[in-house]
Amino acid sequence: MKYIYFFGQGRADGNGTMKDLLGGKGAGLAEMSRSGVPVPPGFTITTEVCRYFYKNKGKLPKEFKEQFKQAVQKLEKINGKKLGDPKDPLLVSVRSGAKFSMPGMMDTILNLGLNDEAVEGLAKLTNNPRFAWDAYRRFIQMFGNVVMGIEKDNFEHIIQEKKKEKGVAQDTELTADDWKDVVKKFKEIYVKNTGQEFPQNPMVQLEMARDAVFKSWNNKRAIDYRRINKIPDDLGTACNIQTMVFGNMGNDSATGVGFTRNPATGEKVFYGEYLVNAQGEDVVAGIRTPKPISELEKEMPQVYSQLKKITTQLERHYRDVQDFEFTVERGKLYMLQTRTGQRTGVAALRIAVEMALEKIITKEEAITRVTPEQLNQLLVPVFDPEEIKKHKPVAKGLPASPGATSGTVVFTADEAVKKSKDTPVLLVRNETCPDDIHGIELAQGILTATGGMTSHAAVVTRGMGKPCVVGCGAIRIDEEKGIFTVGDKIVKEGDWISIDGTTGNVFIGKISTGPSEILQVITGKLKPENSKIYQLYSKFMKWVDEIREIGVRTNADIPRDAKMARLFGAEGIGLCRTEHMFFAPERIPIMQKMILADTEEERRKALDELLPFQKEDFLGLFKEMEGFPVIIRTLDPPLHEFLPKTKEAAEELSKKIGIPAEKIWAKSQELHEFNPMLGHRGCRLGITYPEITEMQARAIMEAACELAKEGKKIIPEIMIPLVGHVNEFKHQKEIVVRVADEVQKKYKVKVKYMVGTMIEVPRGALTADEIAKEAEFFSFGTNDLTQMGFGFSRDDVAKFIQEYIAKKILPDDPFQKLDQVGIGELIKIGIQKGRKSNPKLEVGICGEHGGEPDSVKFCYRVGMNYVSCSPYRVPIARLALAQAVIEKKKKAGYSFK
Ligand code: PEP
Ligand code: MG
Repeated sequence: MKYIYFFGQGRADGNGTMKDLLGGKGAGLAEMSRSGVPVPPGFTITTEVCRYFYKNKGKLPKEFKEQFKQAVQKLEKINGKKLGDPKDPLLVSVRSGAKFSMPGMMDTILNLGLNDEAVEGLAKLTNNPRFAWDAYRRFIQMFGNVVMGIEKDNFEHIIQEKKKEKGVAQDTELTADDWKDVVKKFKEIYVKNTGQEFPQNPMVQLEMARDAVFKSWNNKRAIDYRRINKIPDDLGTACNIQTMVFGNMGNDSATGVGFTRNPATGEKVFYGEYLVNAQGEDVVAGIRTPKPISELEKEMPQVYSQLKKITTQLERHYRDVQDFEFTVERGKLYMLQTRTGQRTGVAALRIAVEMALEKIITKEEAITRVTPEQLNQLLVPVFDPEEIKKHKPVAKGLPASPGATSGTVVFTADEAVKKSKDTPVLLVRNETCPDDIHGIELAQGILTATGGMTSHAAVVTRGMGKPCVVGCGAIRIDEEKGIFTVGDKIVKEGDWISIDGTTGNVFIGKISTGPSEILQVITGKLKPENSKIYQLYSKFMKWVDEIREIGVRTNADIPRDAKMARLFGAEGIGLCRTEHMFFAPERIPIMQKMILADTEEERRKALDELLPFQKEDFLGLFKEMEGFPVIIRTLDPPLHEFLPKTKEAAEELSKKIGIPAEKIWAKSQELHEFNPMLGHRGCRLGITYPEITEMQARAIMEAACELAKEGKKIIPEIMIPLVGHVNEFKHQKEIVVRVADEVQKKYKVKVKYMVGTMIEVPRGALTADEIAKEAEFFSFGTNDLTQMGFGFSRDDVAKFIQEYIAKKILPDDPFQKLDQVGIGELIKIGIQKGRKSNPKLEVGICGEHGGEPDSVKFCYRVGMNYVSCSPYRVPIARLALAQAVIEKKKKAGYSFK
């Protein structure tokens, strides 16, 4: 088997499609190399070797050793240099690189090949002893930390001491002799911590570094990152061994990173940062704040134009924004990496739409380039426009990841985890590093004092869609004192601050947030012509709707929500939960009287009082949804939910409604259920108290008829909850049909209506053929179906679900993401059996899963007619459904032009 893939000199064994085997970095290097881009030669050890390494407790495949030896020899030959050569040593980098980008989570070792002799050779050869000794100390430092696990502080401490001794502030002010002395001390640290001498044999160094890279696949931060980003744990990483080029060989050398378009806004501008006379990690680690790439045009015009040309070609070649790394060694440009650039939601939208308009990609590709989560980011809050007027920014940093947020200051990731349980926190650091990932995850936002737009904090938060401001030089952090200062102001740990990741502004104090720009346009507060982002959104959503094949409705109980959902593009109501209407202060006492009634007559009296309220509600909903179907569900929750939970509350209520407190309390106890979600609820209530269903059907039909008389097109669909047996449905349907006839006669008007059921009890799904003979539509209530399918109580599942996920018993919380294998099977059976006996059956979903992208795609694949979700998730569902169509067509071999 081939375990090693070579690249360099305009050729490569691998190519860009081989990410599974070569990792993203390795595949990118191979592709660049074969496209003639100047790439320092090297080779990639496949992910297969890493997997073998784990399966066989650190051993490597038999044939690997020989291949490895040959690859090293080949690399030496190409370069005309040998590892460890005391006169002209070959130096290499050893880097991880998995299929999916995991920025900074795994390990890298640079300058490998240096030893006590080679360093002298390098000093002579470059005529730059300072450079050589600095390179050697960096190597020992990285090797010691990454391979042998020596704490970074041990090394940093020695450098700090040296600077103090010499009375200088910057590393760059230390001389060759200083670094020589530092190297000596570093080697002592190495011996002290490991009990071994620092290895002098470059081949030994190389093997140890390679294994450390494989091991770094399973360090804590990499595992955390994979968990957060849902990257499988068994992929393994590739290991890239590549000839070193140096950006720190003097003022004609530089190193930098960049994007072919702005990753924060998506604007089509060449975008990046660099440092003269520096090594790659200086830029990414955010230790020095780099210069914008536009200055490279002035400093090194030829390099700049070559870089621009190459990266533009790479963007065309990969048909997507590229995130690249480069190094200039004594005036010569080398590309070290290219990969698809991570981007914010705003940037994703802009890049997708503009690339489609530039005809680099098709409209369908544009649709797949924006994830539903990214679309969601566009709807994220901004500062309340009135409140922000009262606040002046105290500092401005770089706008690394958009969105506005407030939180209380914490200075470490661990504190963020601790405090975030009680209050929203904002993590403030000089710079973040991959070890902070657990704190970043829980913080509302991140503020850093140093680092650029490509620093760790910037890249990670952008991916998470979390507000972030970086490189805010005006703040000075004193972690020990637990404060930061900005100008003459002191901000303590626990104080509120606010940041705007869209502008880079930093504020002291808490500022409320409000609707995003798109939302402001949608709700008429901002004109479309004044919002570039809205124009992009609206064009994009038009494309989405052209592709989408099934409907998107909303779950809404009140006209205001229905209106919002319409603005988001909902095409009807998929679920109106009527119970919410009874909780309004003027209604709940009547509802309570109804429940406490001893006779049907008394109950009817109370219901008669409720009817006008219900009718009013339905009139409002129908008006907002004129021309679109509106599904109204009859009463579902167990009645005890409407009664007082304590004796004291019963006494309070008694005073209000004039029924003795003892009677109220006795009823409340009588109705108490052990698992209320499986008791006397749903159609079971309507069967015990038919007059409730009757009143609701009457209110619905009266509202519909009244509006129909005014010439409005009203499409009511009346839905019976929790049906498990066809006879339950028949019983309720009879009531609805009888009342509907009566009302239509009374109003002398015909309204086309439907009667259907929720499918949320497993027996309902399994006997769907019988039920569908009676029902005109099904709506899958996947909340209850999940509850009853798994036997997990909806209300108690929180006690153990996180443990289930941590222990990988389940991949996700099945109440958030539909369990397609199990609950999905019930849905498939339900649809198939239902349509068999009633081919015209309308089928939808109204459980929470109706707004979760993967679940929504499943609903399309199994043949539903629509999905229904909360108003704010409507755009996400529209996008996911369009993507589902494209995925299906692609799978069938259809190619888009
Ligand atoms: C469901 O069970 O999925 C549903 C939509 O109904 P509810 O959540 O109101 O029980
Ligand atoms: Mg339900």
